[in-house]
Amino acid sequence: MPRRRTKRGGERTRLAGDYDVIVCGASFAGLAVARELAGAGRVLLLDRYELGERQTSACAAPTAWLEALGLEDSIRQTFDRLVMHTPHSTVRFPLPWTFSTFDYPRLCELLDDQNDAEFETAKVEGRGAAAGEAIEVRTDRGAVSAPLVVDALGWRRVLGTEGYQPPDAPLSRGLEVHPHGASRELEIWIDRSLVPAGYGWSFPAHDEVRVGVGSFDPRFHVKDPTVELAGRLRRDAVRYQGNWIPHKLRPATEDGVFFAGDSAGHCLPLTAEGIRTAFYFGIALGRELQQVLEGHGTHAAALRRYATFSDAHEWKFHWMLRAQRAVPRVPPRLLAAASRVMASRAFTHWAFGHYLRIAPPTFAKPGPGRSERLEQATLAA
Ligand SMILES: Cc1cc2nc3c(=O)[nH]c(=O)nc-3n(C[C@H](O)[C@H](O)[C@H](O)COP(=O)(O)OP(=O)(O)OC[C@H]3O[C@@H](n4cnc5c(N)ncnc54)[C@H](O)[C@@H]3O)c2cc1C
Repeated sequence: MPRRRTKRGGERTRLAGDYDVIVCGASFAGLAVARELAGAGRVLLLDRYELGERQTSACAAPTAWLEALGLEDSIRQTFDRLVMHTPHSTVRFPLPWTFSTFDYPRLCELLDDQNDAEFETAKVEGRGAAAGEAIEVRTDRGAVSAPLVVDALGWRRVLGTEGYQPPDAPLSRGLEVHPHGASRELEIWIDRSLVPAGYGWSFPAHDEVRVGVGSFDPRFHVKDPTVELAGRLRRDAVRYQGNWIPHKLRPATEDGVFFAGDSAGHCLPLTAEGIRTAFYFGIALGRELQQVLEGHGTHAAALRRYATFSDAHEWKFHWMLRAQRAVPRVPPRLLAAASRVMASRAFTHWAFGHYLRIAPPTFAKPGPGRSERLEQATLAA
């Protein structure tokens, strides 16, 4: 259970003060940044909700990532194969590594235990006036400032300058329901009768099943398809949650501010997998900021190095986006035939191995040489 409650009424005293780092957004990306800053300085973590209060995803991630971050205790169910349905086939892909669904509040709690940041519930409204080297963050409880500021606020990128509004922005949309129930299979549907460009999913998590539909076309409404898929699976369409999902990288730094996770478009196109990439880029950013706090680098150098690191992954995101655009155009019978071929152990091991290496769990390993590892990862990307 969350340890702190979202501050309400009289508890919402004015916020003020100067910090070494302000991390805005306390979900996957923000908590990963804060984790790397433990012991390094005075860090303030802000979120409009209590930690783990608002789940915004089906919460499935490679098990190795959860283990690398010490989050095993949040795992609800683990899968070593993926079942893909098309109108003309059902194919089982043996996975070379496992996926796990997890409990969001528990994961946030476990990850939060790894930082020593102060936490406040406040809605971030934007940037205030610059004062020397400090950047002011305006919230509904007052203004706070720090020389190092991170926006891990999700796709809205509140501290950015460029507006981003659906349905014109490069965003997908996803909606799911969370009925009670159980299943042994991690399943996806590529079926144009459900969604013309996108996919449906059923991700079991022990005693609940997360059933949803994502559309790469932000103009396509996913509520009816979600209800339709839940109906096909004889599940109740209850406990809705959904959000916009970025499918294009955005600058990872802007005007002195750092961005990680969905705010930088770090969610992978095609699969809409954004949790492990939020961890990955959040950790990379946290390590850069740690260098600054420990006097081994400057703010300007951290901005440059982190932007270079993020940009080095651009071509991989670009190829995933090309695949996202291509898959909906493949005729269904051809897709069925191709998926049967791709289900061979040799192909899945090759393809899923490459896919995991876009943001590998080994990156999370603690220890010395963090900065060198960042350089190596930039080169490897
Ligand atoms: C329906 C759906 C299912 C998905 N399923 C999966 C999945 O199974 N696996 C996967 O890898 N990815 C999945 N994704 C994508 C994944 O959820 C995102 O990529 C991921 O959550 C990004 O993490 P983040 O920390 O960058 O942002 P978020 O998780 O969006 O966190 C942003 C944080 O900022 C806070 N915040 C926002 N605005 C403000 C503000 N103004 N002031 C203060 N705080 C604010 C929010 O409360 C939140 O805590 C799914 C997405 C959707 C919509």
